Amino acid sequence: MRDFAYARAAGPEEAVRLAGPPHARFVAGGTDLLNLMKDGVQEHDLLVDLNALDLAEVDASQGRVRIGATARMSDVAADPAVTAVPVLVEALLAGASPQIRNMASIGGNLLQRTRCWYFRDATMPCNKRVPGSGCPALDGVNRWHAVLGGSEHCIAVHPSDLAVALTALGATVNTLHGDGERRIPVAEFYLQPGSTPDRETALRPGELITSVDVPVPGPGTRSRYLKLRDRATFEFAVVSVAAVVRLAGGVVQEARLAFGGIGTRPWRSPEAEQALVGRPLTAATTQAAGRALVRDAVPRRHNAFKVDLVQRALADVLGGMR
Ligand SMILES: Cc1cc2nc3c(=O)[nH]c(=O)nc-3n(C[C@H](O)[C@H](O)[C@H](O)COP(=O)(O)OP(=O)(O)OC[C@H]3O[C@@H](n4cnc5c(N)ncnc54)[C@H](O)[C@@H]3O)c2cc1C
Ligand code: SF4
Repeated sequence: MRDFAYARAAGPEEAVRLAGPPHARFVAGGTDLLNLMKDGVQEHDLLVDLNALDLAEVDASQGRVRIGATARMSDVAADPAVTAVPVLVEALLAGASPQIRNMASIGGNLLQRTRCWYFRDATMPCNKRVPGSGCPALDGVNRWHAVLGGSEHCIAVHPSDLAVALTALGATVNTLHGDGERRIPVAEFYLQPGSTPDRETALRPGELITSVDVPVPGPGTRSRYLKLRDRATFEFAVVSVAAVVRLAGGVVQEARLAFGGIGTRPWRSPEAEQALVGRPLTAATTQAAGRALVRDAVPRRHNAFKVDLVQRALADVLGGMR
């Protein structure tokens, strides 16, 4: 690992000021960043430690839960205010291992880098790591890659389970930058790769995530997170589904669906949602939603199975809500 300087910020403004130099990075749990630095995938001159910041609170008021950016995944999953949002608890507990969840922060989880193994191998070309160097995943081993939202430059999926649940819930990311505060809907937070896969989020350099606002679903709403993976625990999603559905008299009034493992960002599907709203939650409507979800899928050599798998996962989740 290359030498780097370290600074512990006392408050959010100081953190933002310290992170001014172009090669500085915030560090919270360090469970992703330090691995990438050790492997030579990322190099930074300065790490700005966020752990002394007063940003670990979970607070419920006015129909939303605000989760501080440095709150640990385990603490958030166990917080009484978050139990009102079951899909969030399920997504948090489906991620990583208990030990990692004890270290890993909410902000860091949202900004963890892709698990594309070409990206994580500093000896391989990768357009996300070194723009213009190529994408070996397109014709290589692409079992873990996206079938939706990819480009000829990158087909990596975003690995965060939490981000999928937040996408279904319509959460907002609150930030602080030298220019002031911003509120970014999570739907606009993650960028499509297009021709610039190195640009992954709407954040500007040195912009700090301070908290995430999660609307608490209204009465009569059911929600669930289902994660399918190669082994029962301690594994990233091959496919995942977060569903937030409101039913009245057996008819879908509102449906918010997001998916992990299939898209280049946490994947919301308005098409699948439209196939459900105003209809009874039957096997036929569920299948129609699944077909709408994968209509524009671009399967590749090793990941075509996801097209079928995600439809089955959606059917399973919605079937359990009838
Ligand atoms: C073996 C293993 C298995 C895992 N399995 C899963 C899984 O199944 N599902 C899943 O979702 N995750 C999984 N993870 C990822 C894990 O959840 C992340 O590593 C963790 O959430 C990152 O949080 P952190 O606080 O350690 O971030 P760090 O490593 O400290 O930081 C990660 C990135 O976020 C930036 N950052 C951190 N906080 C802020 C902030 N407040 N504002 C702006 N930038 C910030 C850092 O600069 C850095 O770029 C796994 C990790 C490991 C090592
Ligand atoms: S899929 Fe994206 S992250 Fe993976 S090798 Fe290609 S450009 Fe890099």
